[in-house]
Parts: sequence; C-alpha cells; structure tokens
Amino acid sequence: MTSELTGARLLAGTVVDPAGVLRSKQVPIAHAGIFASSGMGASPSWNVFCIDNAVSFTPRFGVVGDLRLRIDLSTARLLGDGLAWSPADLVTQHGEPTAVCTRSLLRRTEAALTEHGLTALVGGELEFVLTQADGSPRHTPRWNAYGLSAVLDAEPFLMDLVETAGNIGLPMEQIHAEYGDGQFEFSLSPSDPVTAADNIVLARILTGRIARRHGLAVSFSPLPFADGAGNGAHLHLSLARYGTRLLSGGDGPHGLTRDGEAVIGGILAGLPDVIGVLAGSVLSAPRLRPGRWSGAFACWGLENREAAVRLCAATPGTPHGASVEVKCVDPSANPYLAASVLLGLALDGLERGAGLPPEVTVDPAEVPGTVRLPAGQDAALAALGDSPLARRLLGEEILEALTTVRGHELETYGKEDLATVAEKLRFTW
Ligand code: GLU
Ligand code: MG
Repeated sequence: MTSELTGARLLAGTVVDPAGVLRSKQVPIAHAGIFASSGMGASPSWNVFCIDNAVSFTPRFGVVGDLRLRIDLSTARLLGDGLAWSPADLVTQHGEPTAVCTRSLLRRTEAALTEHGLTALVGGELEFVLTQADGSPRHTPRWNAYGLSAVLDAEPFLMDLVETAGNIGLPMEQIHAEYGDGQFEFSLSPSDPVTAADNIVLARILTGRIARRHGLAVSFSPLPFADGAGNGAHLHLSLARYGTRLLSGGDGPHGLTRDGEAVIGGILAGLPDVIGVLAGSVLSAPRLRPGRWSGAFACWGLENREAAVRLCAATPGTPHGASVEVKCVDPSANPYLAASVLLGLALDGLERGAGLPPEVTVDPAEVPGTVRLPAGQDAALAALGDSPLARRLLGEEILEALTTVRGHELETYGKEDLATVAEKLRFTW
C-alpha cells in the first residue's frame, strides 16, 4: 500500500455515470489490493441508472452480466478521518477495458491526440450553491456578487475546504463568491485531461464532505433554484504540438496560430451536436439561456462571457498561458465525457483544417444570425442522437446509454413545473 493511504480505513472507488452521477463501491482498506487487481462488481445497468433511480434498460444494458469497478492504487489518496478515494475504470470481469467506460474513453482521446504530436491541458471551474442541510437556501443577508462579506459569512466552511484541498493535493487556484445568491466558485490548475477530470470528481466529493461537516449541503445542479443563478462547470482547454502552443505565438487574431484557429473552428462547428453531452440534463436548458454568462451561443470572442467559447489570450495576466474556456458545460455533464468530446472536436478541427468563424466582440444576442445552442433538452438530445460526429466521438455504447438516461429525464420531468423539478433534483449531482 502506498504511504498516501496510511491511516485509511475505508476506500471508495468512483465512476461517473452517463447522467453525470457519481457511483461508487467501498472496501475496507485491507481489500484495497483486490479493488486494484480484480475490481469490485458493478452491473451493466449502472450505465442506465437514471437521476431518480429508475433504470432504463436497453438490449445492451440489461439485468444479465457483470462488470468490474477497478481502481488504480497510484491515484488513491486519503481524504481524512480514515476515508480514502480513488477514481475507477469500468472493466470486464477479465480485466479488459469496456467501451462504456468514460474514463477509458478520455484516455483513448488523449492517445489519439498523442498520435498527432499533440498534448492537451484541461482545467475545471466548479460553481456550486451552498444551502442548509435540508436544501433550503442559507440566510445570506450580505450577499454581494464577488463580495467579501459573502465569503466571510461562509468562512468556517471555506477555510476547511481550502485547508483540506491543500492537504490532499487538490490543486485549487482561486475561490470567490459568484453572482448567484449562495453561489461560490473555485478553479483547478490545468493538467492532463484524465487527471483534470479526476480532480473535478475529487473536488465535488470534497466540497460535499466539508459542507456536511458544517451542517450544510452543496448543490452542483445546473439550476439549484428555478429563480436563481445556474451552476456552470466551465472547462479551460489548451493544446500544444510537440511542445509548441497552438493558442498563442501565432499571427492570427489575438496570437492564435493557424492550428489554434482550427481548434476553435472544430469546437464551434461541433457544439450543437454535442451540447447534449455538455449540458444535456433536464435542468441544463433552463440554465443555458442568454444573459446568464452560461455560453448559450455557439460563437467565440476574446474574453466574451456570453460566448460558448471565450478566448483567454496569453498575457502577463494569464499565468498558464492562453486557453479557451468552454462555458456551456454544466455540472450535470460527466467530466470525462465533456473533456473527451471537446478534445475530439478540437482534433477534428485540426485534421480538416477548420476555419475560424468571425469573432463576436459584443453580446452575441445583438448579432443577428449567431447560432443559439438548443434551447430545450428535446432539441439537444435530437441533435445528439442524429449526429454521426457524436457517434464517432463517444462510441455506440456510450451514446446509447447517454441518450437513454436523458430520454427518461425528458419524458419524466420535461413537462413538470421547473421549480418542482429544480427542488427534486437539487442534490442529484
Ligand atoms: N453561473 C454561470 C453559468 O451558469 C457562469 C458565470 C461566470 O461566468 O462565471 O455558467
Ligand atoms: Mg463563474
């Protein structure tokens, strides 16, 4: 056992399902080795569990068969008080990768980039709403967007969060009160894609765990309260070819290289097809509306907060260099899938030399003809189901599981009053 696990009593291994929900198995620490070699049992139906615990069986994902949740001990770490955690892969009983394992898909996407001499860095931003333990709003009389008073009112929780993140090696970079009442955000350092998605999972677990200790709860729902602000799960991406960065140092707009232009062109061209992956839940479309900085338009612009793709150019003010922030992603998205499809679109853009669409330098709502991302879950799912590109990026199995569970949401909650749905699903993610 690695020294990181000294003091651990219980080890949790997690996967994220197609609906974006964390699923896990736990073992007493003495069984950690078996969790890493044989793995722990998981029915194929784990892939078609819905957000309300209904199971949407398909011919492929039924009641027969078994998979394994297998951890990698080198990524396991102690979260404190005897609890350890590791991300897991979904493998067959023979230890082979499965086509439905989203973490393995991201690893394959990264390998496809490597074949082209490309490396990617990904960094997650996490927005969440802090509530009372019973899910009711916290009494926050001094809430100011980006205000210090809001931070001071939540100081014991935030101190514990920051300290624990430091202790367990979660690379938290900054934290602030967001514009929504009770809403906070922190961002994570860029890293290789699989580590970045693992860090997002860890960050969510940690935030929920610390909140519980303070008698509070956190909502990572895209829309925790129907009349409140939405939670985004924006992803920053940057790419390099043989070490040379693509989003800076070129002679295109704002220093983009020709390849950097193709990256943005590829992502923008594919966004309408894959928005059902990035923001596909029943609460995603009500968040993804103009005027909420959620990236409702498939366009790009330098520091444009209403564009789905915000270019952050290389300046002394960007310590990690240039990146694109994809803003339309929300926390109901499986982060392994979100990173996979975005990097897949970037590669697609590079391979076919996609052109850079015109920059939008104002609020895109003011520019006639700007492509609005689907305004409803039905349209997002239809676009996803019909897209050969999405099928290629996700594979048949993941696409089937994803459209099945999201289809259940649409059918079950699509016509229900938004406030009721927001309340029912407040702590799903
Ligand atoms: N809360 C917004 C969203 O739903 C994002 C606000 C921001 O730009 O940080 O994505
Ligand atoms: Mg934010």
